[in-house]
Amino acid sequence: MQALSVASEIFPLIKTGGLADVAGALPRALAREGIAVRSLVPGYPAVLAALAGSEEMRGFEDVFGGPARLLSAEAAGLSLLVLDAPHLYRREGNPYLDATGLSWPDNAFRFAALGRVAADIAEGKLPGFVPDVVHAHDWQAGLTFAYLQAGSGPRCGTVMTIHNLAFQGLFPGEILGRLGLPASMMTLEGLEFYGQIGFLKAGLRYADAITTVSPTYAVEIRTPENGMGLDGLLRARASVLSGICNGIDTEIWNTRSDPQLVVPYDADTLERKTINKAALRERLGLAEVADTPLFGLITRLTSQKGIDLVIATIPDLMAGGAQLALLGSGEAAIEVALARAASENPGRVAVVFGYDEGLAHLMQGGCDALIVPSRFEPCGLTQLAALRYGTLPVVSRVGGLADTVIDANEAAISAGVATGFQFGPPNADSLRQAFDRAFVLWQDKAAWLRLQRNALASDVGWDRSARIYASLFRSVASQAASRRA
Ligand code: ADP
Repeated sequence: MQALSVASEIFPLIKTGGLADVAGALPRALAREGIAVRSLVPGYPAVLAALAGSEEMRGFEDVFGGPARLLSAEAAGLSLLVLDAPHLYRREGNPYLDATGLSWPDNAFRFAALGRVAADIAEGKLPGFVPDVVHAHDWQAGLTFAYLQAGSGPRCGTVMTIHNLAFQGLFPGEILGRLGLPASMMTLEGLEFYGQIGFLKAGLRYADAITTVSPTYAVEIRTPENGMGLDGLLRARASVLSGICNGIDTEIWNTRSDPQLVVPYDADTLERKTINKAALRERLGLAEVADTPLFGLITRLTSQKGIDLVIATIPDLMAGGAQLALLGSGEAAIEVALARAASENPGRVAVVFGYDEGLAHLMQGGCDALIVPSRFEPCGLTQLAALRYGTLPVVSRVGGLADTVIDANEAAISAGVATGFQFGPPNADSLRQAFDRAFVLWQDKAAWLRLQRNALASDVGWDRSARIYASLFRSVASQAASRRA
């Protein structure tokens, strides 16, 4: 069975968030299920630079204002189809934003191009590769299914995955014609969203099946509180909507072989975490004080991630004798508040601004606990890495955080299954209570170690989820085949 994955990011070539991790890891996991995945990605400079060699599969005279080529290439173990459209993608830096942090004004056409070409491939216009299923990720790939719907070619199975409903790809309604889509689609039943064109909405409307990245988020997004205006559509499509938890790459996140760690460790040598902790403290300028728990955060700095809850509870962390290390990049106002907190607590609160994959690994290895205080969280990946590194997650009880961390309440502790701390609702008071419970457990070294061992034993890899995706792909592909017959 063959699948086409369509995503605007793919780890390790280009990444701004968890979408890239998933788009990079799922093809490998699906290969083990007998599904050969080719990944269509835009030809950003970072992607083109990573290709050792490539073969031109097809040329296009004019894709929204310029010529383009579809390249076939292998890179980082991935089978890629790269859409090289210099007028759309040959821009350095963030894939969506210019150097001043504003969205590129032509983003509608940049990602319509991705969908247009994906739809062509789905219709079997690429010699030698006719997918049974097209899997579109997030709004950037959403228009694929509108083009397929508008076309008259054969249709394969289609799956739309929502990684974050907050990003919907909304563009002015007037450009519909220039996108090459029929006016009849500009309705509530089509891709119209309050007068605009919704790229994600198009995907949700026309896909055979919709998935999101955790079962709890799949339920949350059907409510007005968390549906971001699309809850009505998602309720209407509830029979084809499901949640499949993300995994992480357990080779990249492996305490036995992680080159970013000062010393490797495993479930039997968890005491070695203290050596990594000492190295981390030295690197971040945190004081070396015995028996002080070190809490970490690795995050985008946006309101979704609830950093303000942590800023509000720093006095409680300090009163409890803890230290805090944060690695993040994002909104300037949040950076200012964090920098102030660090300067007020020298040696006890350290903040590093920027994106640093290596430091993220050392933090997972060296911290005792990882805080993920999101207001909403489709799945979350940092808590999965934390579990695998024996770093107890302290998470808000939302979305995938609720699905992947088992709260250390009395029942779970006595059943021997607890892996971290949940708090809810996501506010400073309940986070404070979670810290208090963590401080109590920290005093009981044997109990803390048991939780660490449970955490390390959590199944955070891709195998289980890949099996669920594979069975979904097979089901939509066979429905599509019977439609064609
Ligand atoms: P989101 O996709 O909403 O940003 P996820 O938890 O799903 O959140 O995925 C975030 C990914 O990016 C994780 O792999 C995490 O380790 C990584 N990450 C986030 N911020 C940073 C940072 N500043 N430096 C290094 N890695 C980061």
